[in-house]
Amino acid sequence: MARNLDPKCKQCRREGEKLFLKGERCFTQKCAAVKRNYPPGQTGQNQSRRKISEYGVQLREKRKAQKFYNVLEKQLRNYYLEANKKQSATGKTIIQLLEKRLDNVVFRLSLTKSRSQARQMVSHGHVRVNDQRVTIPSYSVKVGDVIEVTKATRQKKGFANIIKEIRKEEVPSWLEVNTKNATGKIVREPTLDDVGHKINTSLIVEFYSR
Ligand code: SF4
Repeated sequence: MARNLDPKCKQCRREGEKLFLKGERCFTQKCAAVKRNYPPGQTGQNQSRRKISEYGVQLREKRKAQKFYNVLEKQLRNYYLEANKKQSATGKTIIQLLEKRLDNVVFRLSLTKSRSQARQMVSHGHVRVNDQRVTIPSYSVKVGDVIEVTKATRQKKGFANIIKEIRKEEVPSWLEVNTKNATGKIVREPTLDDVGHKINTSLIVEFYSR
């Protein structure tokens, strides 16, 4: 499936905030969103002063969510359509659906440094859910599911280093991580507070319901 191939730092600068798309680099002084805090392009510095329309604000928020979760427009629209059919608040449900994607769960368990790495790890067959290999990054996990990195991957030196760096306190409370065997469990449904990044879901819902 087609992906957003724009350089990651450019994507952050376009949204005017850090979206943490590059793993460790995002936490250093090299972060482009800090060093060049204006939109990319020759007129970028002037653009930051432009007034944006209501539609523009909604569009930017939708694109921010797309980039943050590494999903395409069609996928986000489908999440909106699915959420809209449910009884609960649409914005909250969209976030739950995004958070419960397998690639996001692998990242939130700190088993990779970024969502794009997590996506690759899943699609290359390094992840099992309830003892079954799953290679679909958009696979939606359920409460009680056990996520596990395959034994062969766990034994790789690079992965052992990642495991050593896992900080349990950074794993959201709807997930439980076991650093010894690189497994995780879904203990409850995620909420808006679990996202750890400000996403205005009302603007996304307004965009799609126009
Ligand atoms: Fe975004 Fe900064 Fe990470 Fe680049 S280094 S992806 S600008 S947060």
